[in-house]
Amino acid sequence: MLSILRIIFFAVFLLVTQSAYSEDPKQVVKKVYLKKERERYFLCIDFDEKTSFTPRVHTLPNGVKVLLSFNREVAAPNARKISHNIIKGYFFEKFSPSSLMFIVALKENVTFISKVYTKNSIKIGFSINKKHIVVIDAGHGGKDPGTKGVSGSYEKNITLVTAIELRNELLKSNRYKVFLTRDNDEFATIEERMEKINASKANFLISLHTDSNDDKNLRGMSVYTLPNLDKLKNISDTSSIDSKSYYKTLSQSRKFAKCLVGYIPNACRIKNRPCRNSELKILKANMPAVLVELGCISNKIDNELLHSQYFRTKTICAIKYALDNFFGDKKNEADSLH
Ligand SMILES: [Zn+2]
Repeated sequence: MLSILRIIFFAVFLLVTQSAYSEDPKQVVKKVYLKKERERYFLCIDFDEKTSFTPRVHTLPNGVKVLLSFNREVAAPNARKISHNIIKGYFFEKFSPSSLMFIVALKENVTFISKVYTKNSIKIGFSINKKHIVVIDAGHGGKDPGTKGVSGSYEKNITLVTAIELRNELLKSNRYKVFLTRDNDEFATIEERMEKINASKANFLISLHTDSNDDKNLRGMSVYTLPNLDKLKNISDTSSIDSKSYYKTLSQSRKFAKCLVGYIPNACRIKNRPCRNSELKILKANMPAVLVELGCISNKIDNELLHSQYFRTKTICAIKYALDNFFGDKKNEADSLH
């Protein structure tokens, strides 16, 4: 008896679903477009008014996926091109007889700010994340080789390769605009470097160096920031300095230094008192700044590590994490839109 009931139930179910989809597949999407209102973008899909749908929106830092379930069989959407320079790729297709999938890849990282569904439209709002500007200064260069390592290599080459790799890593994240004070083996005076750095109007400066010491056992990384105002020796009249802005910039630099030291993986040695103060000229740029001594090339182990891609990648990741943290690594608010 029970099995007969089951068969009847199944037959009725089939009839109902069949009749639901017995009409011809319908073109339900009327229009897909992107519109800009001030600094905000809105991705809009308009549907046929007689269609009801259930949307599911999944957002990514640089894209959005929309799944649409309809109460009827739908036709594959006509190819509609959204032409806008922020769109990297676009994909709209029939996912099942009664659902469509819509994917948009964007060229920039964005923050999703709203989603509005009406009876016949979807409007997803987002804004482009502002890029932070970072200057990376590869210490020394050209006729100034810096210190010489135990294996005969020069500081200027290690700082250059690390600077280039760090730049590439930061660019990959799409969150940063990066300037290098040099990207080849060229010499620049400190004044020329400072001019480039200050002209970049960057939000942060990282100067890369390697240490050397008479004590060949000494090894590890350290991070330098400027000292407190009363400890500045090379400025005769510190009263000309705006102490409020000096300390504001200094506290930002120190916040980064502390954070960076925290991110350095256990595999890499950190010096005792790794956050140090020094009145280095480069740190007097008009932005928060640190000078990172990546290790001691006078020490055999550090010298090997500094030449190893594995170690450099770890250090570079630590610097990137510290920058993300410094600029407030806002998790894409997209998650809350699900
Ligand atoms: Zn140096």
